[in-house]
Amino acid sequence: MDIPWLRQASTTRAFSSPNADRREELIRVKAHLGADETVLVCAEQKHTSNIGIVSERFLAESNDCFCCFKQTDAIVCPLPNVSIAIMTADCAPIFLVDPVQKVIALAHAGWKGTLGRIAAKTVVTMTELGCSKEDLIAWVGPMAGGCCYEVSNELIETFQAEFSEWPVKSSIGTRNLDLVEINCRQLENAGLLGNKVHRSNICTIHNTDTFYSYRADNGTHGRIISAMVMIS
Ligand SMILES: [Zn+2]
Repeated sequence: MDIPWLRQASTTRAFSSPNADRREELIRVKAHLGADETVLVCAEQKHTSNIGIVSERFLAESNDCFCCFKQTDAIVCPLPNVSIAIMTADCAPIFLVDPVQKVIALAHAGWKGTLGRIAAKTVVTMTELGCSKEDLIAWVGPMAGGCCYEVSNELIETFQAEFSEWPVKSSIGTRNLDLVEINCRQLENAGLLGNKVHRSNICTIHNTDTFYSYRADNGTHGRIISAMVMIS
């Protein structure tokens, strides 16, 4: 996204280690974004479809430079100079930006969040803050691709029942769930223009030399940190 006031990143394996201090890593991500002085807001990430909205009041009530939304998996931020971050390893990091109203959002969508339509709900929250759907730009970052993300038949059936109008399986295998496609469809169905929904096309399970994968690394503690900030 070539927007002068916007900075965003997803980290690689080289950036961090599985057992590193997460706060120290987050501080380094902020520094990398040229946003050392900004407040940092995270989400507790409990595989919910709850969304936290960053407000002056929320920041004031969090007496820590690391603010955390409890029981929340997406962060919507209309304020400049606030870094927002989520951590993933196979789940989707979904970046959203409204370059007109200047609102950013990050959502964490594993299969539970995808089933709970967290991507679509994040779009709704942004529109409630004044964003126009047609202005929103989305990027679905490195995550488990349909090429590798095999699940149970029961989960395939659950997804097909919930998203009956869409193909939920990838063209590869018989039980491969395509979470990338389902999240992109959610974003478009929520009103985003198709040419503004971008995907990294990087499968974390395929690319374990570069990205952490919970599956391929047998439950690693390593995480991809995805962060975004509007610099004023
Ligand atoms: Zn793959």
